[in-house]
Amino acid sequence: MNGDAVIYYENYSPVGDILVIATCLVFIILISSAYISKTKNFMLFRIMIGLLMLSGTMSIFYHFSLSDHGRFSVPTIYLFRVIYHISLFAILFLYVLYSVIPLRLDKSSSYRYTIIAVSVFSLLLIVELLGVIFGFVFHITETGEINNDFNIFGIGYIFFVSLILFMLIRYRNRLAKTILYGVIGTYMVSVTVMIIQGAYHQTSYTTATFLFPTISLLYLIHSNPVDIEIGAVNVAAFEDMIKYSYLQNKQMLLMSLFMHDYEGAGKKYPVEIQDTIRHFYTDFFKGAVLFQISNGRMILAVDLSKNPSYENSVNHMLLSFENEYPKYNRDFKIIVQKTTTEISKDNDYVGFVKFIESRMKENDVHFVEEQDVKTYYEYKYILKELADINAKKDLDDPRVCVYCQPVFNIITGKYDTAEALMRLELDELGLVYPDKFIQVAEDNNYIHTLSLIILHKVCMRLKSLLDCMYFVKRISVNFAVSEVREEGFCDDINSVIEACGIPYDKIAVEITESQNDNDFIVMKDKINELRQRGIKFYLDDFGTGYSNFERIMELPFDIIKFDRSLVIACGTDYKSQKMVYHLARMFSEMNYSVLYEGVETIEDEEKCKNMCAKYLQGYKYSKPIPIDRLTEYFEKKTA
Ligand code: C2E
Ligand code: CA
Ligand code: CA
Repeated sequence: MNGDAVIYYENYSPVGDILVIATCLVFIILISSAYISKTKNFMLFRIMIGLLMLSGTMSIFYHFSLSDHGRFSVPTIYLFRVIYHISLFAILFLYVLYSVIPLRLDKSSSYRYTIIAVSVFSLLLIVELLGVIFGFVFHITETGEINNDFNIFGIGYIFFVSLILFMLIRYRNRLAKTILYGVIGTYMVSVTVMIIQGAYHQTSYTTATFLFPTISLLYLIHSNPVDIEIGAVNVAAFEDMIKYSYLQNKQMLLMSLFMHDYEGAGKKYPVEIQDTIRHFYTDFFKGAVLFQISNGRMILAVDLSKNPSYENSVNHMLLSFENEYPKYNRDFKIIVQKTTTEISKDNDYVGFVKFIESRMKENDVHFVEEQDVKTYYEYKYILKELADINAKKDLDDPRVCVYCQPVFNIITGKYDTAEALMRLELDELGLVYPDKFIQVAEDNNYIHTLSLIILHKVCMRLKSLLDCMYFVKRISVNFAVSEVREEGFCDDINSVIEACGIPYDKIAVEITESQNDNDFIVMKDKINELRQRGIKFYLDDFGTGYSNFERIMELPFDIIKFDRSLVIACGTDYKSQKMVYHLARMFSEMNYSVLYEGVETIEDEEKCKNMCAKYLQGYKYSKPIPIDRLTEYFEKKTA
């Protein structure tokens, strides 16, 4: 009889194992009631908890059956023992698998470590089984004696713990230091407890030492970043949740609420609104999680499978929001959507929500449709192309195309000027119109690169037109106010024109008014500087903004472009007609030329002619055409 084995089981107390099982139950309660950050590894973590409970139970069975082996058949005792050991090894094995992701191992090294872990795990399994069958590891003799002379468990334990520590130390630079120290420290505690219980010939705490590293995972990696005031979780947790539900193929309902009053540093939803929101989502949905994406933006995520009648719940919730709303009376935007594979894969709901919000009016609820997602991806594609155009800064970039709209000169009865209008020619979308990209380019500071490309292409074309003796007074190019504001604006324009070697007065610049005081002063200086070289200036879209005459008069524009909305207004309403007429007369008397935009019909034309028009532009004469086709409108000099 092996004395050690007898002492081991006689010293055993189930307290350690019972505590492990109880702790695991607490884990399960916490995991299902609180929001826990669920990474891809969360599944492994759950299996670890299951294995811990299994090994705790088996340890109790094994030790009791051993102490009373007369009542249990020998194969049963073997079975308890093997399951007990194998589930403990499986926990260590899963720990190795678990480490692959946070340590960001590449394919080949993660494969290598997995193979090592799988081989050793299988070897241990085989040795345990063979050992039991052939009696070289542990066996109970026919006379009831217990032999435990080859400590396979100890060898396996040392191997796995060494492998895990080796991986952690080897790739230490890939983990946040705090997490690294946390995990290593926990393993140290486990090993110390193992050594202490070994010294006292104990086996009661073996399972508990496997619990410690699992606790460290829960605390360090699957933590719970909840804001207890409102019960919301942060944006990183939101992205985790999306990743997890995507991997699990779970469809979620997402409802976002944006209130611009509370957006921005240091701001927060007031307590009354917090209360309302908290009560909303717990009342209407099962297992919904609220995420605080930014100070003024929240997303509520609802698991559709747990809420089969979610459509009703959404309607009830919106209805009750509408009832509560007058209490707060703050602007809001609500978006309701189901998760889609595409956006989940990119984990880009925050981007998508912001995009939809930017196109919504205030105090509205938007139900996302397939088309919205399509438009968003189109937008992202355009944005990517714009970024690339901006990075390359190639003035001949074939993706930026110049269309031109010839302008009719009433005095001469000919077409001698034109406006350059930008289009993009993109592989996946074909010809893209300004409504899809000008704003995007402005928002991302790419617009200036685009404008310079247009200016360059216009200059090149002008040069060949002039060389071929076409009579062209000038072509106007649109610039955004934000560009004029930039330090190098004049230099950039000068250098493009100079490089092409055309006279400055063949180019005009179109800009719109700006409400900004600083812009006004800067603009005035820039316009004067370029005008001295001969460049003409057009005030674009007159009549759409809050025109400030005093200011307009102070800016040295050459031509005022009356917006199409004024032309339309004149067609319906006598008062408007009178007003437009007087405005136009006033501008003409002050030596500005008046151009009417959007002239579509003979009636429009007639009216404009009677309202001091010098230039007319619109579909009546021509739609914007590729710049090469301007030759169809411009005339050749006869001399
Ligand atoms: P905009 O400068 O006011 O340009 C006139 C717009 O009115 C053009 O639209 C033109 O196609 C359209 N239009 C011309 N005649 C008629 C008409 O008779 N009826 C109607 N309904 N519309 C007419 P487009 O080309 O889509 O350009 C839209 C806007 O995009 C432009 O408005 C301008 O603000 C901006 N944009 C275009 N090209 C450039 C550019 O190169 N740089 C900058 N910064 N903005 C540009
Ligand atoms: Ca324009
Ligand atoms: Ca315009």
